[in-house]
Amino acid sequence: MLQVRHLVKYFGGVKAVDGVSFEVHAGECVALIGPNGAGKSTCFACIAGQHRPTGGEVLWAGRHIDALAPAQRLARGVARTFQVAQTFEALTVLQNLQLAVTARLGLPAWNELDRVMVGAAGQLLARIDLQSLAHADVLGLPYGAKKRLELGIALAGLGEAAPAASHAQANDAPTPRLLLLDEPAAGLAEPERVALMQLVRSLAAEGLAVLYTEHNMDAVFGVADRVLVLIEGRLAAQGTPLDIARHSEVRSRYLGHAFDADRP
Ligand code: ADP
Ligand code: MG
Repeated sequence: MLQVRHLVKYFGGVKAVDGVSFEVHAGECVALIGPNGAGKSTCFACIAGQHRPTGGEVLWAGRHIDALAPAQRLARGVARTFQVAQTFEALTVLQNLQLAVTARLGLPAWNELDRVMVGAAGQLLARIDLQSLAHADVLGLPYGAKKRLELGIALAGLGEAAPAASHAQANDAPTPRLLLLDEPAAGLAEPERVALMQLVRSLAAEGLAVLYTEHNMDAVFGVADRVLVLIEGRLAAQGTPLDIARHSEVRSRYLGHAFDADRP
């Protein structure tokens, strides 16, 4: 379980996050919504380790992770994607995944990349449904495919599809996994968005804790189990999608009074 307690982050005089507390449990798909500049990406950076919080604490699976570097958090099962997809553009889709699996296993990265971890990378490719673009250079990919690939890279970082040899002991308890997705469906056309959010939901159904930000309400209503609303760095509301759709401050300051949860 992820526990965020009284999280505060200042950038100079700007209070980006102002005392935010929430939890995300294994198997839950939780949306973090709110206007631009509300502090969503900053929350992610404090959870995944790109930023040190000014105050408060972040616990994952019962342990404080605030002092850990991003790579150490990833080793404990905390992975994220970025608002602007982060991929290796000079490589192919398959090579990006091979590299991600290789890095996860701590193997030297650039040795004969074309021959390493092809099987595991292929499994990930199927998971994100990009088989048809396996050998395409990432530079020329449509943005939606790039966003899927970034999700695949995050899954590789969490050990999805890693060969059995990577597990210390076959009978070790599996590492709990948290996936933080910053605007996973931004810039996608509606059918692509729906398909991607189905994939995100299926990951939660497999037991991952999933926290994602999104501006398209069709990627929130009908997808998220629970919704957190950030406004000006504060958690203005949290609850079921229905609670949020009816919340007066959220309607007046973010969703708009005309918002209809049945037709987001
Ligand atoms: P959101 O993701 O909800 O759009 P952000 O977390 O990106 O919001 O930003 C929250 C606030 O913090 C904004 O006022 C933004 O300008 C500011 N901010 C974010 N990152 C930085 C940074 N690295 N340096 C200075 N200010 C930042
Ligand atoms: Mg953001």
